[in-house]
Amino acid sequence: MVFSDPRLKALDQLYAVYDQFTGNRNVACQKFCADCCTCNVTLTGLEAARITAGLDENTKQAIRWKLTNLLARPRFIPKITINRLADICAQGGEPPEEVVDPAWGACPLLENKSCPIYDVRPFGCRCMTSFQKCSDTGAADIDDFSLTVNHVFLQVIEHMDKNGYFGNISDMLADVLSGGAVASKTRSGSHHSPRLIPNSPLNTLLIPPGHREKIQPILAALRTIQI
Ligand code: SF4
Ligand code: SF4
Repeated sequence: MVFSDPRLKALDQLYAVYDQFTGNRNVACQKFCADCCTCNVTLTGLEAARITAGLDENTKQAIRWKLTNLLARPRFIPKITINRLADICAQGGEPPEEVVDPAWGACPLLENKSCPIYDVRPFGCRCMTSFQKCSDTGAADIDDFSLTVNHVFLQVIEHMDKNGYFGNISDMLADVLSGGAVASKTRSGSHHSPRLIPNSPLNTLLIPPGHREKIQPILAALRTIQI
């Protein structure tokens, strides 16, 4: 696909770097394994633009209809982004408490345990990488190094869209599909859902000292992407 916004191409390259990392780790996750597909997934406006870029008008309309019925239901509404969290931690501050409950239900896009946008799913879905099937163990089994890598990718993805927005997948797609401004390059004068929060630039990477050496090859791969 040819993109008018070079950031979308960069996002695909970043996803490819992450998928290569995951592919080397022998995780149990695969297509049609959907216990982690909850309505609490979050993403940036740029990621939402990547999802909708590949959808035909009928599919967009079907998603709009689905979201119309689902937007009144409870779901995770983030208070801060990961780069804002990193800034607060770096300043010794206390981040706000977030409320999230997997029992709020399945992702609005999920159909018969299948994700219709699997190839362009956002990083919040992509980063669910468990060494054992959640259906066997009751929860994802993710090691500490993978969590560190996930944080770094989330931070870079937010930075790529630093003038955009972050939010729940339902709110974000509803905004993008109704012609909202979340995927625009600037927030100036834009109108958007009040449930979406502004992204922040990356100032401090959340990498614990014990992972700083091991993560270098991944950082080197990320540096090759023109962001
Ligand atoms: S995180 Fe768990 S439910 Fe999600 S794909 Fe992996 S094994 Fe399946
Ligand atoms: S977007 Fe796809 S992979 Fe992500 S939670 Fe929804 S159905 Fe699952």
